[in-house]
Amino acid sequence: MRSRRSFFKTILVALGSVPLITHVGRSFASTRRKNPPWLGLQRACIITCPVCSNAVVERMSHESLKGVFHCQKCLTWLAPKPGDHCIYDSYGSVRCPPLQFKAKARGRG
Ligand SMILES: [Zn+2]
Repeated sequence: MRSRRSFFKTILVALGSVPLITHVGRSFASTRRKNPPWLGLQRACIITCPVCSNAVVERMSHESLKGVFHCQKCLTWLAPKPGDHCIYDSYGSVRCPPLQFKAKARGRG
C-alpha cells in the first residue's frame, strides 16, 4: 500500500512539474538562442601564409572546419599541420571555434 501511495504521489508531482519543466525548457531555449555557445569566441582569424607571409583575415565558421587554405598571393594550397585540427590552428592567429569552445568549457569547470 505504501508503495502504491508513493507511486500516486510521484505521478502528482510529475504532473505538477510539467508546466514548470515546459517553462524552464522554454526559457532555457530562448537563452540558448540569445546566447549561442560560440558567443564570446573569436570569429576573426588572421591566417598567415608560411610561404609568402601574406596575412589574410578570415571569418571562421563554427559549422564547417576548414581543411584547406588557398593563399591569394602565392597561390599555395595549405593543409593543416599533422596533429592540427584545421588550418586556423596551424596558420591562424587564434584557434578554431570548437577548440576555443572546448577550452572555455574546460576553464569553467
Ligand atoms: Zn602565400
